[in-house]
Amino acid sequence: MSMLGWCKIMLRKTWLEINLDNLYDNCCFMIKHTNKKLIAVIKANGYGCGDVEIAKVVLDAGASMLAVSSLDEAMALRNGGIEAPILILGYVEPSDALLLIENNISTSVVSLDWVKELVKENINGLKVHLKVDTGMNRIGIKDIDELKEAYEILKNAKADVEGIFTHYACSDVDPSFKTDEQFSKFKRAYKALNAKFKYVHCDNSDASLTYQEDITNSFRLGIGMYGYCSYKSELKKVISLYTTIINVKTVNKGETIGYGATYTCEEDEIIATLPIGYADGFIRKNSGRNVYVNGEYATIVGRVCMDQCMIKLSKKYPIGTIVELVGDHISIEDMAKDLDTIVYEIITNFNERLTRKYIKNNKEYLIVNKRVS
Ligand SMILES: *Cc1c(COP(=O)(O)O)cnc(C)c1O
Repeated sequence: MSMLGWCKIMLRKTWLEINLDNLYDNCCFMIKHTNKKLIAVIKANGYGCGDVEIAKVVLDAGASMLAVSSLDEAMALRNGGIEAPILILGYVEPSDALLLIENNISTSVVSLDWVKELVKENINGLKVHLKVDTGMNRIGIKDIDELKEAYEILKNAKADVEGIFTHYACSDVDPSFKTDEQFSKFKRAYKALNAKFKYVHCDNSDASLTYQEDITNSFRLGIGMYGYCSYKSELKKVISLYTTIINVKTVNKGETIGYGATYTCEEDEIIATLPIGYADGFIRKNSGRNVYVNGEYATIVGRVCMDQCMIKLSKKYPIGTIVELVGDHISIEDMAKDLDTIVYEIITNFNERLTRKYIKNNKEYLIVNKRVS
């Protein structure tokens, strides 16, 4: 069958459904809300949703730049035909400068020492964003004199220092205290340089929804594009997760379900098998949580296996019945709470084994099967 043919068939009826219309609307909403340039953060394969597909939509919606975490992620976008500006937010080997220049990829300053290593290469024309560390203590330069020195070294080496930025540590819980302190530090550093930059950016999703600042002209939006923020907003949910019933049976009272025989039927129970497991990122801790089938909730019983898990039903449903694991009735936020983690970790754990179904213009637009299309 041709590649186009594969694109229309789901080879596995367990799929992550990605609503590109909502993604588009979320980007437009945030650009309007902030009145700043959108730097769309699509690291980690677009938060698990597919980097190239996400890139195309956010660029359509008006994103000025894309951001990823590493050189391989940036190259994956270039190989996927994406020509828009890309910024690497994390570490790049100084010796990879030529690759950056050749592929028109911007990168972030890790430290003064990193800059000194970088200028051992020919960096004429390399696009660089100064990273100011205002309290994350992850990467970037804290000291203003060091920042000035780094800037001078880069300019003398004919790098194109097109941006300056910082990253907030507590914008999800604390939009005022810590974030204020960080922004003041950033402003001081920015003013000390007495220079103009094309991109001045501090806000991540939560800060761009809630925090007001001057001097910045861009914002970095990641999780907000998918509709998941720590604050109430008009953002629309982009991600759903579905599977289908592949086996249904009555299990007698006293029989057990799955590995370790951790669940015993208290009566004759109707048990269905679902083709999703921890190797899909649907972790074992999901045991005991609910899924949604045909208008009712059903509980996952026994241990979640690598590729399958079992649920208890109130009545028999036919093979092929769709089961919602995340969607209108089960939110990722609740799932994250149940599993003692955050939405980011949940969605980036949904891996390539899950088929992707993209919705565009309210219609099925593209199917991506693992390693096939
Ligand atoms: C991941 C990341 C972002 C995006 O954060 P969200 O909370 O997903 O909006 C922004 N800036 C940097 C430096 C990041 O690493």
